[in-house]
Amino acid sequence: MGKLIIFSAPSGAGKSTIVNYLLSQNLNLQFSISATSRQPRGTEKHGIEYYFHSPDEFRHKIANDEFLEYEEVYKDKFYGTLKSEVQRILDNGGNVIFDVDVIGGCNIKKFYGDNALSVFIQPPSINELRTRLEKRGTDSPEIIESRIEKAEYEMTFAPQFDIVIQNDNLEEAKAKALKVVKDFLAK
Ligand code: ADP
Ligand code: 5GP
Repeated sequence: MGKLIIFSAPSGAGKSTIVNYLLSQNLNLQFSISATSRQPRGTEKHGIEYYFHSPDEFRHKIANDEFLEYEEVYKDKFYGTLKSEVQRILDNGGNVIFDVDVIGGCNIKKFYGDNALSVFIQPPSINELRTRLEKRGTDSPEIIESRIEKAEYEMTFAPQFDIVIQNDNLEEAKAKALKVVKDFLAK
């Protein structure tokens, strides 16, 4: 069976950047596309970054027991990993890579145990997170504020992860991530 690699961090820490880098590295990784009830931002497309659903559709999937895990990550904004998505990737013979919030990350790790590696991406500071989110330019000031408000709490989860990678210098963080993932897949 394929292995599972989980990346979690506060929003703006650099998860997507690092996950996209790993996806380009011939490691037989496939991205677990989550479902969400938030609106697409920028160039995001249904079935690429996320499966975008209305809050009602999302609730219907919860009631149908379609999720391996789901969280209300921000008020009224639901995100979840579909069981069918993980199965699809494992059936294809791939290793699964997740970009999920800290609670989802801990839950997936508990579920898959030694078959999963959980990685926490640590930003240098909360102020730097704000700067990165502002520079990314994809979220309104209110949304950036709600993300920053949650970041301090999310940082307290770091010790529960198998590995913590500091993302101060992006090139160093990418190299470290590549090494830990390669080592884990070779085990
Ligand atoms: P996340 O997926 O964790 O929300 P992103 O990968 O979208 O974060 O990164 C947030 C923003 O910060 C992006 O614009 C990205 O290019 C930038 N970024 C990522 N890592 C660094 C870094 N080490 N230094 C400066 N900017 C960074
Ligand atoms: P964003 O809106 O920036 O894409 O994501 C916001 C947060 O939701 C990030 O921390 C991201 O990792 C998390 N997230 C994305 N998909 C899932 C998921 O399927 N489950 C959980 N628990 N969190 C998710």
